[in-house]
Amino acid sequence: MAATQPFKYTVHVRGNGGILQGAPVSFTEEARVALFSPNPPPNLVRDLLATLATRHHDEIMGMQDWRCWKCSGHAVSMLHNPMSYLYKTDSPGVVDLVLPICRNRGACDAEGGQMFAQEMARMQIGGGL
Ligand SMILES: [Zn+2]
Repeated sequence: MAATQPFKYTVHVRGNGGILQGAPVSFTEEARVALFSPNPPPNLVRDLLATLATRHHDEIMGMQDWRCWKCSGHAVSMLHNPMSYLYKTDSPGVVDLVLPICRNRGACDAEGGQMFAQEMARMQIGGGL
């Protein structure tokens, strides 16, 4: 079994206007040591980020009555946008920006996906999904 190292997976749930909903939630997780390098294997990063988002999705959904990031309606699901900061030796972590959405494949869902794509293009760091 490959050696692992602990890190913090922190979730920020955003609401209308980018305002944080509730307090950020942190989970202690572990990942393979290879992921903590400045140039981690991209496929390993992708797998890790997808696994984290999937593993904690239901738990985060159940924490409170989240509101859709766009229209403030009752949220039924969430979009995840995890970014890896595991290369930071002082505080390695993964930060997941989450947008609750009122309907799968609805307008707020589509717009949330576009916003993440733009944000990722702007930052070009880590290994977002
Ligand atoms: Zn909505």
